Amino acid sequence: MDNPTTLNTDNFPILGREVYGHRLVYLDNAATTQKPQAVIDCLCDYYTTLNSNIHRGAHYLAAEATERYEAVRGKVQRFVNARHSHEIVFTRGTTESINLVASSFSQRYIKAGDEVIVTGMEHHSNLVPWQLACERQGARLRVVPFSDEGVLDLDAYAGLFNERTRLVAVTHVSNTLGTVNPVAAMARVAHSHGVPVLVDGAQAVAHMRVDVQAIDADFYCFSGHKMYGPMGVGVMYGKEQYLNEMPPYQGGGEMIRDVTLERTTYNDLPFKFEAGTPAVGDVLGLGAAIDFMESVGMERIAAHEADLTRYAMERLAEVEDLRFIGTAPGKAAVVSFLVGNAHPYDVGTLLDKLGIAVRTGHHCTQPVMDRYGIPGTVRASFAVYTTREDIDALVTALHRIAPMLN
Ligand code: PLP
Repeated sequence: MDNPTTLNTDNFPILGREVYGHRLVYLDNAATTQKPQAVIDCLCDYYTTLNSNIHRGAHYLAAEATERYEAVRGKVQRFVNARHSHEIVFTRGTTESINLVASSFSQRYIKAGDEVIVTGMEHHSNLVPWQLACERQGARLRVVPFSDEGVLDLDAYAGLFNERTRLVAVTHVSNTLGTVNPVAAMARVAHSHGVPVLVDGAQAVAHMRVDVQAIDADFYCFSGHKMYGPMGVGVMYGKEQYLNEMPPYQGGGEMIRDVTLERTTYNDLPFKFEAGTPAVGDVLGLGAAIDFMESVGMERIAAHEADLTRYAMERLAEVEDLRFIGTAPGKAAVVSFLVGNAHPYDVGTLLDKLGIAVRTGHHCTQPVMDRYGIPGTVRASFAVYTTREDIDALVTALHRIAPMLN
C-alpha cells in the first residue's frame, strides 16, 4: 500500500492511543477491526439528526431513515455482487446469519437420515448451529479433514457426497489458520450433486474482493464489525430461490403481510427475514465502512495484507522456538503460532504489557486445537492500517519476553 501510515493515524483515532505507556499495536483484527472516523461520524450523525424507526413511520425522519437503510442494502448487493438487493438480509452478524440459515433451511430441506458437510476448521459459529440443526432433524454431520499445513483434503471432500447430502457449510477464510479455502471449486463439486453451499465469509469480506455469483455461493454470511463497521450488524446473502422456499426465522413486526388471530401470511423478501426493529444506525455505519473500503480499493487492501503476511511469516521465523500453526500457501492475514512450550495465554499477557494486542486461546475453533493437540495459539491478524513497523514491534517484543517464558 502506498501510504498506510496516513490511513493509520488520520482515519482510525483509536490507533493513536497508548496502552501501558506504549504505542498501541493492534494485531487482533480477526476478532474485530477498528473503525475509521467516517464510520464513527456516521453513527453519531444518525443519532444526532436522523434517529427514527423505519418502514412504518409516516413522517419525514422515518422516510429518510428508511431510504438510507435501503440504500445500504443496494450498496451491500453491489459490494458482494449479489444478483438482487432482496437477497441481502440484515442480521446482527455472521453468527445470527448462520443460525438463521441452519434453523430455517433445515426445517424446509433436512430430514432424518440426511447429511450436512462441514470442515474441520470451522469457527464454532459455523459448526454448532449445524450440530443443533442435525440433532433437531435427526440428520448427521460429515467433516472434511485438513492437512498439517491447514489445507482441506478436497479428495476426501468429494468422497463425502451421497444421495442424503443436503448442504455444505464451509469457511471462506479460517480465522485460526488463515487458510483461504477454494470455495468456488468446492461449490462446483457440491452443485454437481445438486447440493447448495453456505460460505462463512466473516474473515474474507474485509480482505479480498468477494463475488458471491462468481463463487456461486447459495448463502454467504458476514459481520459488519470485522469489516471496519459497527458491532451488532451483519449480512446473510441467500439465493432468492432458497429464501423464497425457507420459512421465517423469527416472527414479529415487519416480517408479516397479514395477521389474524388464526393465521399469518409473510412479507416479501428480504423483510420476511427481518423481524422487529433493525439496527438502523449500524446498517448506515456498515454502508460507511463499505465506502471506506471501496475508497482504498479491495485489490490494494488484499495486496497490502499479502505483503504484510509474507513479511510477518519471515520475521516471526527469526524468533527462537517459534512454531507456526497454519502454513497453507496463499494464506490470508492471520498468523497463529506457539513459542516453545509457553502457554499462549502467557505470551499474550506479556505482549499486552508492551502495548501489543494479540488474541490467544482456541479462537472458537476447539476442533482445530484438538487436530494439532494444542491448547490454543497466539494469533496476530492484520488489517488495512497494519504496518511493517507493527510486525517489527511484535518480533522485538517476542525477543524481549523470551527469557520470561518456559
Ligand atoms: N466465522 C468466523 C470464521 C469468524 O472468525 C467469526 C468471528 O470471529 C465468526 C464466524 C462469528 O462472527 P460474529 O461473532 O461476528 O458473529
